[in-house]
Amino acid sequence: MNHQNIVLVMGCAIVLAGCKPASDALERQEETTGEEAPAKAAIPEDLDLVILNGRVMDPETKLDAVRNVGVKDGKIVAVTDEAIEGTETIDASGHVVAPGFIDLHVHGQDPYAVKLLLRDGVTTPLEIEAGAWPVEDYYDERKGKSQANYGASVAHVWARLAAMDKVDPKGLGLYSGAINASAHDGAKWSKDRSSPEQLEQIMANVEQGLRQGGLGIGFPIGYYTAVGSPEVDTVAGLAKRYNTFITTHVRYLSNIPPSGYLGLEELLAVATANEVPLLVHHVPSNCLGQTPQCLDLIDKARSAGFKVAAEFYPYTFGSSIIGADYLGPGFQERTGMDYQDITYVKTGEKMTKALLAKYRKQDPGGMMIMHHIKEPDMLAAFSRPGVFVGSDGVPFEDDKGGIPAWDAPYGVGKGHPRGAGTHAKVLRLVREKSVVPLMEAIAKLSYLQAQFLEDTVPDMKHRGRLKPGAIADITIFDPATVTDNAGSDEGKNSLPSTGIPYVIVNGTIVVKDSKVLKGVYPGQPIRNAVQN
Ligand SMILES: [Zn+2]
Repeated sequence: MNHQNIVLVMGCAIVLAGCKPASDALERQEETTGEEAPAKAAIPEDLDLVILNGRVMDPETKLDAVRNVGVKDGKIVAVTDEAIEGTETIDASGHVVAPGFIDLHVHGQDPYAVKLLLRDGVTTPLEIEAGAWPVEDYYDERKGKSQANYGASVAHVWARLAAMDKVDPKGLGLYSGAINASAHDGAKWSKDRSSPEQLEQIMANVEQGLRQGGLGIGFPIGYYTAVGSPEVDTVAGLAKRYNTFITTHVRYLSNIPPSGYLGLEELLAVATANEVPLLVHHVPSNCLGQTPQCLDLIDKARSAGFKVAAEFYPYTFGSSIIGADYLGPGFQERTGMDYQDITYVKTGEKMTKALLAKYRKQDPGGMMIMHHIKEPDMLAAFSRPGVFVGSDGVPFEDDKGGIPAWDAPYGVGKGHPRGAGTHAKVLRLVREKSVVPLMEAIAKLSYLQAQFLEDTVPDMKHRGRLKPGAIADITIFDPATVTDNAGSDEGKNSLPSTGIPYVIVNGTIVVKDSKVLKGVYPGQPIRNAVQN
């Protein structure tokens, strides 16, 4: 069916004069099924943008051929081997023309972080793991001011913090601010079970977020392992009632019982029992040496017909808040790390017993980097069919611990390099290590994420594809040179990726000749319908 669509458009180009207007023709194509006579599609003559002579790769139809791509009114209207013209022209010779990358796991939602993500080929960076709350504020703050598409799940964690610690996350930084503020109240959100009254308030907060159009429920209970089963069940039940999904950072970052594997079993059980889709973030980060077994379990659930997805980032080190539950006493035995495997981002210090205790008390929301994943486990997730990429990019910090401004120089941001280099690194590893074929890698960077969301977020049916009718989120890269440049050394954490000269968001060029254009805000909200 999808192959047919492309052939139809190309076929129509040959008989251009007799064709119907494209929008009409595209609708007719979608209605075409099975043996019916194919509808003919026209390529409009007044295209806004044409991308010529690129290697078009579409992970849905598996088209992999040199084609010209025509864009009009924010949509792809032609993928053809005929000559086409438009108001703007990109020569993509020698480059791959792919669907814009979709990242469901982006904590750095500020303009500097988004600028780096665009350089890394990401057109849709969503905050799905931790989420946002209040959801309305998240969307209002970005309306008309975002260079990339934006969206967030409902943050169970902030709904819990607001209910249990009486901290209003509004106006506070997603990480340090809210978490450090809650520390004055004993950080009940992370340490306590909820009382029945608190649980009622938490769920009212989460429900408000769903009614404000939040995408599913972000449920990172690995940061509050004291949470009781009644709360876990209630979250899954609410997701079911709203016909939406749960995403999770599972309980326990541990090789020994209670292990990450056990944490995965818990979430699989509640998700499948309630028949709600589940996204398991960064599997190697929680499952550690049991990563293949965790992936097997997820595969079994998928084979049984449940909608369960798994994600990884292409690094052997992670980053989060230094006050994280899993860095409590005994972390060495659980994770295989020692103090020197943990770095405090603000000062660059490697931890000792005393330093770790000091920063966990003084700045529990401050960022750390930890080396806890073995490369074979990361590669096991990378090569597993159906497992997709999520950067888990966290906000970069400047020298003063603030977030760099949009026009701050590349490289000044301190933090985990995954916020800048994840997607180009995946493409580099495909070139250097042949981890998976390039088409599969592109699916892991775009199409699989759209597929996970599209049942509950209809807009995503039209993203993550490079075919007529799809929304024109497009990433153009040179497969021979594309590379990450961000690394762990000082001054290199936030260096932009290279070899991705053009990025197009909703039909508008936002990266041109490898430069992010200033003041161009084509980003659209990815949001469910708001209910009153
Ligand atoms: Zn996480």
